[in-house]
Amino acid sequence: MQPTHDTVEEITVVTPEEEALFTSLRAKNWQEFFGQENVKEAVKIGIEAAKKRGEAIEHILLYGPPGLGKTTLSHIIAKEMGASIKVTSGPAIERAGDLASILTNLEKGDILFIDEIHRLNKIVEETLYPAMEDYCLDIVVGKGPAARTLRLDLPQFTIIGATTRVGLIDGPLRDRFGVMHRLTFYSPDELGKIIKQAAEKLEVAIDAASIVELAKRSRGTPRIALKLLKRTRDYAQVKGRGIITQAIANEALSMLEVDHMGLDASDTRLLRAIIEKYNGGPVGLETLAAMLAEDSHTIEEVIEPYLLQIGFLQKTSRGRMVTKLAFDHFGITITSDQQALL
Ligand code: ADP
Repeated sequence: MQPTHDTVEEITVVTPEEEALFTSLRAKNWQEFFGQENVKEAVKIGIEAAKKRGEAIEHILLYGPPGLGKTTLSHIIAKEMGASIKVTSGPAIERAGDLASILTNLEKGDILFIDEIHRLNKIVEETLYPAMEDYCLDIVVGKGPAARTLRLDLPQFTIIGATTRVGLIDGPLRDRFGVMHRLTFYSPDELGKIIKQAAEKLEVAIDAASIVELAKRSRGTPRIALKLLKRTRDYAQVKGRGIITQAIANEALSMLEVDHMGLDASDTRLLRAIIEKYNGGPVGLETLAAMLAEDSHTIEEVIEPYLLQIGFLQKTSRGRMVTKLAFDHFGITITSDQQALL
């Protein structure tokens, strides 16, 4: 995803170079993976049970906004199972043949991680059903009247699907997952631990107050916490003595236009547009997308979840509405008509 507006940087956008750095910082085991206690507990039990039975762990669907640790968790599961993990994504598997070649190369117990699984096309998805259910693959060989179906047996493997849009996953696919886990936004305290751990790995000195400040402004998302840490470190190296103090952190964050609630330029644009042009709403998603020149999926998957979580935005049957909390945040007085609508 590229920034859509040249002048301001959106903190939800991570460059490939930053993503590579985050991969190197990735939590490698349970000790390094903070928060999501319920999911962790359930996954650990699943791993234990599968190991006792000497079987592959059941298929798992992980869902939640981007950057919350779905990929990281999948790698930890593979490590705990002593399995190898192959990584692919919904849009990368274009034809049933692509899927067949991936699946036939798996070995017993292997994990196949499919990111953005909601973007699998229908034919591929249907090929996946018997593979997930019975570990077999029906392949059509030949064309026309001579065509016949060949059944291939597959080793016992596990699919871990990840998605930001669980609502777009068809019932039949969803039903084939043994378990579904929703990852939720992290508390500032949990993000603080993630930032501290990453700072140690990066060998950058950061004081406790700065950790708290970065954590508060990370929109509940580890990937953003890491991005803010990296940017603050760069700033400290250029403008300071390489040490992240609160003054340095505050300067770096205001340069990035991240406010004290963690809202960045794109959040502010969205909220202000609804307030200023629609008196707080309701306004439909497509209208909003057109008004902001932003992709509607980006609005739904990346920008809105956090605004809904902090109660700045409400989804109603008539469209999106900005709440009194958000009006207050910008110091704008809400009209009594609007308040009545909410
Ligand atoms: P997703 O797959 O949900 O988009 P990732 O697994 O890629 O998210 O996580 C983004 C980054 O945040 C990774 O570098 C990862 O190490 C870090 N991260 C995510 N969740 C946690 C966690 N619970 N504890 C520590 N680090 C985390």
